[in-house]
Amino acid sequence: MKSRRLLLAANWKMNAAPKQALVNAHGDRSLNPYHPHSDIDVVVFPTVLDLRSCMDAGLVVGAQCGHAEALGAHTGDISMAMLKGVGCRYVLCGHSERRTHHGETDADVAAQVVAALEQKMHPVVCIGETLEEREKGHAEDVVKRQLKALPLESDITIAYEPVWAIGTGKTASAKQAQGMHALIRSLLPEDRQEKTRILYGGSVKADNAEELLRQPDIDGALIGGASLKPEDFAQIVKAGEMVTAES
Ligand code: PEP
Repeated sequence: MKSRRLLLAANWKMNAAPKQALVNAHGDRSLNPYHPHSDIDVVVFPTVLDLRSCMDAGLVVGAQCGHAEALGAHTGDISMAMLKGVGCRYVLCGHSERRTHHGETDADVAAQVVAALEQKMHPVVCIGETLEEREKGHAEDVVKRQLKALPLESDITIAYEPVWAIGTGKTASAKQAQGMHALIRSLLPEDRQEKTRILYGGSVKADNAEELLRQPDIDGALIGGASLKPEDFAQIVKAGEMVTAES
């Protein structure tokens, strides 16, 4: 039974927006799976260069990252305030690629989340353990540590993304993912437990989306590779609509 509206988030990373996402702004919306849907939320996270064209095509957009400070000496960065200024409604915070390649710490991620909330943007905050951490039996401790840094009393979305499943083709089983999602939910403040959406991310594809989305504590997905292929993304959206219609 789905008590929270599903959110399907397309993370295009450093790739051009799929051409199909930019057409049909005023035409047949069913031809463009990235368009807003009536029963589920669909949000795309393009590069900053494609934000405007995606908005012009009628898509709901988010940024892939944002700096916590409003302005200053941060070469190459863009602040949450600036992202809000160009029309972003969502922002990813703490994606593992940012934590790994840009050295973002739990404290940096928390500061980004606070800055996004101040700008009235909705943060989708990524947490998850590496393969090494999982193999050492530390997966739950890592997730607890990452969560503890966050303003969990606020209206945020959590994305549980085990790092070993991102872009690798290895998905957490539905049972593994559900177990971790239930743990995450239990660690939220009591009055946020029923309201906070927890997405799963890590090699979500057309053929595993339905089973994952059927889990009671999985409220959507953050999708990388498969979201760049309109036919695959359309199948994932269809799975989300089916699960929603049945609940
Ligand atoms: C991601 O980038 O957040 C992600 C989950 O990627 P993929 O779906 O390709 O594993």
